[in-house]
Amino acid sequence: MTKRSPVWKYFEKKEDRTSTCTICFKNIKTSGNTINLNGHLNSMHRSIITPQKNNNSCQEINDPVEELTDVNTTAGLPTSNIFNTDTSIALPSPYNHFKRQKTIKQSFDPISSDAEGGIKASKITILIMYMIPKNSQLICIVEGKGFKLLIKTLAPLYNMPSRRSISRKIDIKYETLSGIFKETLATSTNFSLTSDIWTDIQTRSYLGITVHFANSTTFTLKSGILGIYDLSERHTSEYLAEKLKEACFEWRISIDLITAVIIDGASNITKSVELAFGKNYQIPCFAHKLI
Ligand SMILES: [Zn+2]
Repeated sequence: MTKRSPVWKYFEKKEDRTSTCTICFKNIKTSGNTINLNGHLNSMHRSIITPQKNNNSCQEINDPVEELTDVNTTAGLPTSNIFNTDTSIALPSPYNHFKRQKTIKQSFDPISSDAEGGIKASKITILIMYMIPKNSQLICIVEGKGFKLLIKTLAPLYNMPSRRSISRKIDIKYETLSGIFKETLATSTNFSLTSDIWTDIQTRSYLGITVHFANSTTFTLKSGILGIYDLSERHTSEYLAEKLKEACFEWRISIDLITAVIIDGASNITKSVELAFGKNYQIPCFAHKLI
């Protein structure tokens, strides 16, 4: 087997002729080729790997959690998108139960699959990884007595991953998904940014930066949060300009391709946009202007 196939961007090779998907952490048997790996990407993560073409004027990027809702799942799982913050609950169709009669094995799967390596175990792990950032929880929640008891009650055979294991999985998944997003960004030649500074309850400041762009071929509009960057120094225009440029560099967005930056109109951020991108790139936020 060679690692040259593009499919290896999404898998970690293991020693026992299996590979682990870095999006959903399911173990896939390889049998010396990439057929099963391609099959897994196509059946479970097609909307993430392949840009969707539709008639919507504004397209969002699907969250891999959505991919968990396979044909045998009757309970809806939470969905959102990777880089935006909107969340909705995918309700099951009332007709899903009649789609296909389950085999005997499938009927017993829900009983045993919360054991290590089972389908349900994989889903629980992904949902814990989803819940931690979504609900602003600490990673150490997986070692908390109450949380462990809750999961033990719901899935008695589930083996709770350690804090280190969950942390590593989140890092691996971030690398994979951010790589996909960089490829999506590369489909466009014009970008605009939205930026704002906010302060948390512990008075630490952050610079949030969102990118907006259109696929040059399909002209579908997309948005994504580039990051919430910690501001450890005084909010001078020079410092903020560096932060804006660093974000562009991190996501491989050429400074020359930025066409506009929407800001709240504060003098330091206004000046920082001029320092980073040039004169007349600032567009004051309409909502801020109303206040
Ligand atoms: Zn997967």
